[in-house]
Amino acid sequence: MNRKPIFAANWKMNMGASATEDFLKSFLSKLLGQSFPAEIVIAPPFVSLAKLTEVLHSSGASNEAQSIQIAAQNCSEHDAGAYTGEVSVLMLREFLVHYVILGHSERRAIYGETDAVINAKIHKAREANLKPIFCIGETLAQREAGHLETVLRTQITEGLNNVSDKDMAEIVVAYEPVWAIGTGVTASSQQAQDAHALVRSVIAELYGQDTAAKIRIQYGGSVKPANAAELMACPDIDGALIGGAALEPQSFLEIIRNGCSNQPS
Ligand code: PEP
Repeated sequence: MNRKPIFAANWKMNMGASATEDFLKSFLSKLLGQSFPAEIVIAPPFVSLAKLTEVLHSSGASNEAQSIQIAAQNCSEHDAGAYTGEVSVLMLREFLVHYVILGHSERRAIYGETDAVINAKIHKAREANLKPIFCIGETLAQREAGHLETVLRTQITEGLNNVSDKDMAEIVVAYEPVWAIGTGVTASSQQAQDAHALVRSVIAELYGQDTAAKIRIQYGGSVKPANAAELMACPDIDGALIGGAALEPQSFLEIIRNGCSNQPS
Protein backbone atom coordinates (compact mmCIF):
# COMPACT_ATOMS: atom_id res chain seq x y z
CA MET A 1 0.00 0.00 0.00
CA ASN A 2 1.42 3.34 -1.05
CA ARG A 3 0.53 5.83 1.68
CA LYS A 4 1.75 9.41 1.33
CA PRO A 5 3.84 10.23 4.40
CA ILE A 6 2.81 13.24 6.45
CA PHE A 7 5.32 15.34 8.40
CA ALA A 8 3.67 17.68 10.87
CA ALA A 9 5.35 20.32 13.03
CA ASN A 10 3.68 20.68 16.41
CA TRP A 11 5.02 23.97 17.71
CA LYS A 12 3.14 23.69 21.02
CA MET A 13 3.26 27.01 22.96
CA ASN A 14 6.15 28.39 20.93
CA MET A 15 6.35 30.73 17.95
CA GLY A 16 4.23 33.87 18.13
CA ALA A 17 3.29 35.68 14.93
CA SER A 18 6.65 37.32 14.30
CA ALA A 19 8.60 34.11 15.00
CA THR A 20 6.17 32.31 12.66
CA GLU A 21 6.91 34.78 9.90
CA ASP A 22 10.68 34.44 10.41
CA PHE A 23 10.45 30.64 10.39
CA LEU A 24 8.41 30.61 7.20
CA LYS A 25 10.67 32.99 5.31
CA SER A 26 13.64 30.80 6.12
CA PHE A 27 11.83 27.48 5.59
CA LEU A 28 10.35 28.53 2.25
CA SER A 29 13.68 29.78 0.97
CA LYS A 30 15.25 26.42 1.84
CA LEU A 31 12.33 24.57 0.26
CA LEU A 32 12.48 26.55 -2.98
CA GLY A 33 12.56 24.33 -6.04
CA GLN A 34 12.36 21.12 -3.99
CA SER A 35 9.41 18.84 -3.73
CA PHE A 36 8.97 15.80 -1.56
CA PRO A 37 6.60 12.84 -1.93
CA ALA A 38 5.02 13.83 1.39
CA GLU A 39 2.53 16.19 2.97
CA ILE A 40 4.01 19.00 5.06
CA VAL A 41 1.88 20.39 7.86
CA ILE A 42 2.54 23.13 10.43
CA ALA A 43 0.56 23.46 13.67
CA PRO A 44 1.30 26.85 15.25
CA PRO A 45 -0.37 28.27 18.35
CA PHE A 46 -3.84 29.72 17.64
CA VAL A 47 -2.56 33.30 17.73
CA SER A 48 -0.12 32.60 14.88
CA LEU A 49 -2.68 30.99 12.54
CA ALA A 50 -3.51 34.32 10.87
CA LYS A 51 0.14 34.99 10.08
CA LEU A 52 0.68 31.46 8.80
CA THR A 53 -2.38 31.67 6.56
CA GLU A 54 -1.40 35.12 5.31
CA VAL A 55 2.11 34.03 4.33
CA LEU A 56 1.11 30.69 2.82
CA HIS A 57 -1.95 31.83 0.91
CA SER A 58 -1.31 35.45 -0.03
CA SER A 59 -1.53 36.25 -3.71
CA GLY A 60 1.94 35.68 -5.03
CA ALA A 61 2.67 32.89 -2.54
CA SER A 62 4.93 30.30 -4.14
CA ASN A 63 3.85 26.78 -5.02
CA GLU A 64 6.01 25.57 -2.14
CA ALA A 65 4.08 27.83 0.24
CA GLN A 66 0.71 26.76 -1.07
CA SER A 67 1.59 23.11 -0.67
CA ILE A 68 2.03 23.47 3.10
CA GLN A 69 -1.06 22.55 5.07
CA ILE A 70 -2.14 24.27 8.26
CA ALA A 71 -3.10 22.50 11.46
CA ALA A 72 -4.48 23.67 14.78
CA GLN A 73 -3.22 22.15 18.01
CA ASN A 74 -6.65 21.72 19.54
CA CYS A 75 -10.33 22.62 19.08
CA SER A 76 -13.42 22.87 21.23
CA GLU A 77 -15.97 20.07 21.28
CA HIS A 78 -18.65 22.81 21.35
CA ASP A 79 -19.95 25.02 18.56
CA ALA A 80 -20.06 28.43 20.26
CA GLY A 81 -20.99 30.12 23.52
CA ALA A 82 -19.74 30.51 27.07
CA TYR A 83 -16.49 28.55 26.85
CA THR A 84 -13.82 31.04 27.88
CA GLY A 85 -10.49 30.43 26.22
CA GLU A 86 -11.78 27.91 23.70
CA VAL A 87 -11.67 28.01 19.89
CA SER A 88 -14.35 26.43 17.70
CA VAL A 89 -13.90 24.40 14.54
CA LEU A 90 -15.69 27.04 12.46
CA MET A 91 -13.27 29.68 13.69
CA LEU A 92 -10.42 27.42 12.57
CA ARG A 93 -11.98 27.00 9.14
CA GLU A 94 -11.73 30.75 8.63
CA PHE A 95 -7.94 30.39 8.76
CA LEU A 96 -7.91 27.67 6.09
CA VAL A 97 -6.97 25.08 8.69
CA HIS A 98 -7.01 21.52 7.28
CA TYR A 99 -5.89 19.43 10.24
CA VAL A 100 -6.36 19.53 13.99
CA ILE A 101 -4.18 17.70 16.51
CA LEU A 102 -6.42 15.93 19.03
CA GLY A 103 -5.62 13.74 22.01
CA HIS A 104 -2.02 14.90 22.38
CA SER A 105 -0.54 13.43 25.55
CA GLU A 106 0.01 16.94 26.94
CA ARG A 107 -3.72 17.66 26.56
CA ARG A 108 -4.51 14.32 28.20
CA ALA A 109 -2.04 14.67 31.09
CA ILE A 110 -2.03 18.41 31.82
CA TYR A 111 -5.61 19.36 30.87
CA GLY A 112 -7.31 16.12 31.85
CA GLU A 113 -8.75 15.33 28.42
CA THR A 114 -10.40 11.93 28.53
CA ASP A 115 -10.99 9.54 25.65
CA ALA A 116 -14.64 10.70 25.70
CA VAL A 117 -13.69 14.37 25.32
CA ILE A 118 -11.23 13.51 22.55
CA ASN A 119 -13.95 11.50 20.84
CA ALA A 120 -16.35 14.48 21.02
CA LYS A 121 -13.65 16.72 19.51
CA ILE A 122 -13.02 14.24 16.69
CA HIS A 123 -16.73 14.29 15.83
CA LYS A 124 -16.84 18.08 16.00
CA ALA A 125 -13.75 18.37 13.78
CA ARG A 126 -15.27 16.07 11.18
CA GLU A 127 -18.53 18.08 11.18
CA ALA A 128 -16.42 21.02 9.98
CA ASN A 129 -14.46 18.83 7.57
CA LEU A 130 -11.23 19.20 9.55
CA LYS A 131 -8.93 16.19 9.51
CA PRO A 132 -7.97 15.03 13.00
CA ILE A 133 -4.40 14.02 13.78
CA PHE A 134 -5.47 11.65 16.53
CA CYS A 135 -2.68 11.08 19.06
CA ILE A 136 -2.35 7.97 21.18
CA GLY A 137 0.47 6.52 23.23
CA GLU A 138 1.46 4.83 26.45
CA THR A 139 3.47 6.10 29.42
CA LEU A 140 6.67 4.36 30.44
CA ALA A 141 4.96 2.88 33.51
CA GLN A 142 2.19 1.43 31.31
CA ARG A 143 4.72 -0.06 28.88
CA GLU A 144 6.84 -1.53 31.68
CA ALA A 145 3.77 -3.02 33.30
CA GLY A 146 2.99 -4.84 30.03
CA HIS A 147 -0.08 -2.71 29.28
CA LEU A 148 0.94 -1.33 25.90
CA GLU A 149 -1.71 -3.20 23.94
CA THR A 150 -4.53 -2.52 26.40
CA VAL A 151 -3.73 1.20 26.57
CA LEU A 152 -3.56 1.65 22.80
CA ARG A 153 -6.63 -0.50 22.21
CA THR A 154 -8.66 1.54 24.72
CA GLN A 155 -7.50 4.89 23.37
CA ILE A 156 -8.32 3.84 19.80
CA THR A 157 -11.66 2.22 20.56
CA GLU A 158 -12.96 4.99 22.82
CA GLY A 159 -11.40 7.86 20.89
CA LEU A 160 -12.99 6.61 17.67
CA ASN A 161 -16.33 5.64 19.18
CA ASN A 162 -19.09 6.03 16.54
CA VAL A 163 -16.67 7.48 14.00
CA SER A 164 -17.97 6.35 10.60
CA ASP A 165 -15.91 4.57 7.96
CA LYS A 166 -16.15 7.70 5.82
CA ASP A 167 -14.78 9.94 8.57
CA MET A 168 -12.12 7.39 9.49
CA ALA A 169 -10.69 7.74 6.00
CA GLU A 170 -9.91 11.40 6.81
CA ILE A 171 -8.12 10.72 10.09
CA VAL A 172 -4.38 10.46 10.63
CA VAL A 173 -3.26 8.55 13.71
CA ALA A 174 -0.12 9.64 15.56
CA TYR A 175 1.49 7.02 17.77
CA GLU A 176 3.49 8.94 20.34
CA PRO A 177 4.95 7.00 23.26
CA VAL A 178 4.69 9.52 26.10
CA TRP A 179 8.15 8.58 27.38
CA ALA A 180 9.68 9.66 24.07
CA ILE A 181 8.00 13.08 23.79
CA GLY A 182 10.38 15.95 24.43
CA THR A 183 12.80 13.64 26.28
CA GLY A 184 15.40 13.04 23.60
CA VAL A 185 14.67 9.31 23.99
CA THR A 186 13.30 7.89 20.75
CA ALA A 187 11.57 4.54 20.52
CA SER A 188 13.79 2.11 18.64
CA SER A 189 12.57 1.54 15.13
CA GLN A 190 11.56 -1.99 16.20
CA GLN A 191 9.52 -0.70 19.18
CA ALA A 192 7.88 1.90 16.94
CA GLN A 193 7.15 -0.55 14.12
CA ASP A 194 5.66 -3.10 16.57
CA ALA A 195 3.37 -0.46 18.07
CA HIS A 196 2.35 0.83 14.63
CA ALA A 197 1.54 -2.68 13.45
CA LEU A 198 -0.58 -3.17 16.56
CA VAL A 199 -2.42 0.11 15.96
CA ARG A 200 -3.08 -0.87 12.35
CA SER A 201 -4.39 -4.27 13.43
CA VAL A 202 -6.81 -2.69 15.93
CA ILE A 203 -8.04 -0.33 13.20
CA ALA A 204 -8.48 -3.36 10.92
CA GLU A 205 -10.65 -5.04 13.58
CA LEU A 206 -12.81 -1.91 13.81
CA TYR A 207 -12.90 -0.74 10.19
CA GLY A 208 -11.67 -3.62 8.06
CA GLN A 209 -8.39 -4.39 6.33
CA ASP A 210 -8.92 -2.02 3.46
CA THR A 211 -9.33 1.07 5.65
CA ALA A 212 -6.50 -0.03 7.95
CA ALA A 213 -4.18 -0.41 4.97
CA LYS A 214 -4.95 3.16 3.87
CA ILE A 215 -4.75 4.94 7.23
CA ARG A 216 -1.60 6.91 7.82
CA ILE A 217 0.06 6.38 11.19
CA GLN A 218 2.69 8.93 12.16
CA TYR A 219 5.37 8.34 14.74
CA GLY A 220 6.05 11.07 17.29
CA GLY A 221 8.61 11.30 20.06
CA SER A 222 12.03 12.96 19.72
CA VAL A 223 12.18 12.60 15.94
CA LYS A 224 15.33 14.31 14.65
CA PRO A 225 17.16 14.52 11.32
CA ALA A 226 19.45 11.70 12.49
CA ASN A 227 16.71 9.14 13.21
CA ALA A 228 14.07 10.12 10.64
CA ALA A 229 15.26 7.84 7.82
CA GLU A 230 15.44 4.72 9.98
CA LEU A 231 12.02 5.31 11.53
CA MET A 232 10.37 6.14 8.21
CA ALA A 233 11.81 3.01 6.61
CA CYS A 234 9.52 0.90 8.85
CA PRO A 235 6.61 -0.49 6.85
CA ASP A 236 3.86 0.82 9.13
CA ILE A 237 5.30 4.29 9.82
CA ASP A 238 3.86 6.96 7.53
CA GLY A 239 5.48 10.18 8.63
CA ALA A 240 6.14 11.99 11.85
CA LEU A 241 4.64 14.43 14.33
CA ILE A 242 7.56 16.56 15.43
CA GLY A 243 7.83 18.92 18.38
CA GLY A 244 11.22 20.35 19.38
CA ALA A 245 13.08 19.53 16.16
CA ALA A 246 10.45 21.32 14.06
CA LEU A 247 11.07 24.69 15.71
CA GLU A 248 14.09 25.22 13.52
CA PRO A 249 13.58 25.40 9.72
CA GLN A 250 16.73 23.51 8.76
CA SER A 251 16.08 20.67 11.14
CA PHE A 252 12.39 20.34 10.09
CA LEU A 253 13.46 20.27 6.45
CA GLU A 254 16.14 17.64 7.10
CA ILE A 255 13.64 15.43 8.88
CA ILE A 256 11.37 15.62 5.83
CA ARG A 257 14.22 15.04 3.41
CA ASN A 258 15.74 12.15 5.37
CA GLY A 259 12.31 10.69 6.07
CA CYS A 260 11.53 10.69 2.35
CA SER A 261 14.86 9.20 1.36
CA ASN A 262 13.39 5.69 1.23
CA GLN A 263 10.10 6.70 -0.38
CA PRO A 264 9.30 6.25 -4.06
CA SER A 265 9.12 9.79 -5.55
C1 PEP B 1 5.08 16.10 20.19
O1 PEP B 1 4.91 16.97 21.01
O2 PEP B 1 4.13 15.67 19.54
C2 PEP B 1 6.44 15.58 20.01
C3 PEP B 1 6.59 14.48 19.34
O3 PEP B 1 7.47 16.31 20.58
P1 PEP B 1 9.06 16.03 20.41
O4 PEP B 1 9.32 15.82 18.96
O5 PEP B 1 9.70 17.26 20.94
O6 PEP B 1 9.36 14.81 21.21
